[in-house]
Amino acid sequence: MSGVKRIDPRRPYRITPLGLRRIVLGEIEPGDVVSRDARPVEASAVKPLRTDVAASGWHMAVAHSYCGRLDDHAREAIAAAAILARRETGVIAVILGPFHEDAAALGADRIVVFNDLDAARFQPQREEALLSALIDDYAPEHVFMPDNALGDGDLGRRLIAKLGCSAATHVSEIDARHVGLGWSGGASLAHAPLPRVVLLQQGVVDSNLPFVGIGEHIAGREAIEAVEVCRDLGLEPTESASIALEEADFIVSAGNGVSNVATLEDLAASLGAAVGASRVAVDDGKFPRSKQIGASGKTVSATTYFAVGISGAVQHLQGIKACRHVIAINRDPGAPIVKRADLTVIGDAEDLMRALIARIAQARDQSEASESER
Ligand SMILES: Cc1cc2nc3c(=O)[nH]c(=O)nc-3n(C[C@H](O)[C@H](O)[C@H](O)COP(=O)(O)OP(=O)(O)OC[C@H]3O[C@@H](n4cnc5c(N)ncnc54)[C@H](O)[C@@H]3O)c2cc1C
Repeated sequence: MSGVKRIDPRRPYRITPLGLRRIVLGEIEPGDVVSRDARPVEASAVKPLRTDVAASGWHMAVAHSYCGRLDDHAREAIAAAAILARRETGVIAVILGPFHEDAAALGADRIVVFNDLDAARFQPQREEALLSALIDDYAPEHVFMPDNALGDGDLGRRLIAKLGCSAATHVSEIDARHVGLGWSGGASLAHAPLPRVVLLQQGVVDSNLPFVGIGEHIAGREAIEAVEVCRDLGLEPTESASIALEEADFIVSAGNGVSNVATLEDLAASLGAAVGASRVAVDDGKFPRSKQIGASGKTVSATTYFAVGISGAVQHLQGIKACRHVIAINRDPGAPIVKRADLTVIGDAEDLMRALIARIAQARDQSEASESER
């Protein structure tokens, strides 16, 4: 024992204007935001406004939402619009699909949400028409979008063709004057002046901003009619088990604490999640090597990672660094996964999985019954 007294990480803390957590060592000052909860308080409550000047021009960011939220890539596009904005430039975020998050914390001064332009429906002409109308209204100096394969990349290219303006795709480097993008199949980087439409690759911009926007919600032009030249045939249901782990948005993963693989697979199926595993579970022969997640397995970036009976060894955590929410079931409250998880249920894996499957089935029956009553 060294005898050196260590700071209790659960002591009251305050959030600095930069959004950093500082443990309160002395007296708590008036105005400090103090919490015993280990999570940071809502960032917009403490960060300063990006600008106090009325907007005389605009940067626009456009992205689809998923289940009412924006993924990290979309957040980065809004952050780019805010970071590169001058004092007198406002930031307007255009969200296609329902959105239930804090727009100010993302750096947006204004936000327009088109609830019915869900990413699950393919309606390119309508999206393009609504977006063009907004671009006519705001005349943004620059438009930022995530360059992804989930609809934003496609819409961005349609917009570029329609506006016939300067544009850059696959942008991997950006500042107020220029962009850098892969050239010669990514072997070298080409540079160009900052164009009007910028389609950003993921990870180029830090979306953890030291400021907030105004976050004012405004109504969009819902009434625009556009003739679709293509027909949406709907989504083809896919077996969740067949989704590649790297692409899965929801993963239920088994560790050494899972004794019954069939229960875990039932749980994954009822949640519509892909199945992953720790190395010990794979080495035991319970899962094929292709399911292994971690340093010597796959790196995943699911929105939700459900770790069942996994200790959370550093090599495993390496593979789930990019996952947004981690939920764990473990019978040991001291397991390292508990520190990484946003929510841990302490108890026996088999009992809890069975209880959860029963609750999901019950909730599904109830919602089907209320649907059929309508
Ligand atoms: C070079 C190297 C590379 C590695 N690469 C990887 C990798 O890619 N991926 C990986 O996962 N590991 C990897 N490992 C192994 C890693 O160090 C761990 O050994 C492994 O992740 C542990 O797997 P586990 O958590 O499933 O098993 P354990 O460490 O045995 O943990 C089981 C957990 O389940 C809990 N538990 C037990 N029974 C129950 C129950 N009935 N109900 C609820 N909870 C229960 C326990 O409390 C425990 O926390 C690597 C190691 C090395 C050295």
